[in-house]
Amino acid sequence: MDFELDQETTMFRDSVRKWVDKECPKDWCRVLERREHEYPQELWDKLTAESFQGLGVAEEYGGMGGDIVMQAMFMREFARNAAGLGWIWGITAFSGTSAISLHGTEEQKRLFLPQMAAGQLKTAMSFTEPGGGTDLLGGLKTSATKVDGGWILNGEKTWSTCADTADYLLLIARSDKNVTRRSDGLSLFFVPRTSKGITTTPLDKLGMRALNSCAVHLDNVFVPDNLLLGEAGKAWKESTKTLNSERIMNAAMCLGMIDGVLEDAIAHMTTRRAFGKLIGEFQALQHYVANIAMSQKQSELMLYHTAWLQSNGKPCAMEAAMTKTLVSEYACQAADQGISILGGMGYSAETDMQRYWRDARLLRIGPISNEMARNMIAEGLGLPRSF
Ligand SMILES: Cc1cc2nc3c(=O)[nH]c(=O)nc-3n(C[C@H](O)[C@H](O)[C@H](O)COP(=O)(O)OP(=O)(O)OC[C@H]3O[C@@H](n4cnc5c(N)ncnc54)[C@H](O)[C@@H]3O)c2cc1C
Repeated sequence: MDFELDQETTMFRDSVRKWVDKECPKDWCRVLERREHEYPQELWDKLTAESFQGLGVAEEYGGMGGDIVMQAMFMREFARNAAGLGWIWGITAFSGTSAISLHGTEEQKRLFLPQMAAGQLKTAMSFTEPGGGTDLLGGLKTSATKVDGGWILNGEKTWSTCADTADYLLLIARSDKNVTRRSDGLSLFFVPRTSKGITTTPLDKLGMRALNSCAVHLDNVFVPDNLLLGEAGKAWKESTKTLNSERIMNAAMCLGMIDGVLEDAIAHMTTRRAFGKLIGEFQALQHYVANIAMSQKQSELMLYHTAWLQSNGKPCAMEAAMTKTLVSEYACQAADQGISILGGMGYSAETDMQRYWRDARLLRIGPISNEMARNMIAEGLGLPRSF
């Protein structure tokens, strides 16, 4: 058994950490996040300058290579300062490129991956509908009707993050109603966001305020045949391949936030005074940081183990669900105790605790809710399916 990171991964982590602190300091990210409904293009441009959108994209398609362990490492380091703004990278450079790499034809890969790796093409995921996210299949009403040369899409998506600034939407729709299982008859499309008939409306929300999560209205949107991803009618089966990776990336973002919380908490405890002492001398607060540090260690072990399983093609559905669930709950607890440690300043918009607290909360809800993840864990233990 070997728990050491190899030299290449360690060097990569250290260089990302340095870059994040130099180019994306917390106080800068804090200001960007407060710019409600204003996309932080300058953050995207900094990622582009370092080619980070190409991490995980094969070199033959213009990327820098790297596996899910490296991607999780990057997300962790980035989220330490960027918190939920880390999705600016994740939605395109992780979810978008994974979808094209896994489901795209050779022609689609050659066309889109180099542009994505070069930071010239942004994507958004449009899966959830107003009728339900947890029961996605029950709530899915968007239709795709076959016509000459393509498909006509009609329907409504919701919470699609960055849909208003994306160049393409990864969108799932029902292309066949005559099926016995509702997981059959779904298709995945790569839809140009400026297509006639698409309107996006930003929704107000608690965190990640600079990255708009949008309602997407589709009114007779024509999508040509060459923008169907994978086989028509088989999208559900195909997209389940990426679920473990998505859950691992969620946990990586949460762990980055735990890192950020811990360092800010300790910095405050070693400067703020009360009753003639540094507050770091108070045992109650020491217990808070000990809790956060224990959750950090446990999260790190689970995250890298699960990412390693996934990278080596080993089954890890249970591990990914457990890691996503536990680390998101640890991140929320850490940010909550971090606010207590900072007192009033923890609630102030001038520090980052409130940002970690707001952003971490989302990751217990999506992309799969922790209640649903627990259902799956219980089912994996041999109990009857509860949903
Ligand atoms: C800020 C934000 C950004 C998002 N970004 C995107 C995006 O980019 N793309 C995208 O497609 N989606 C996105 N989502 C949607 C997200 O994936 C869904 O919100 C999530 O899947 C939950 O679905 P829901 O909101 O419809 O809740 P519901 O499905 O209505 O769930 C409500 C509650 O019921 C519980 N519940 C439901 N079924 C069960 C069950 N069987 N057992 C136990 N409990 C159950 C849930 O756990 C939850 O607590 C985003 C959401 C938010 C808030």
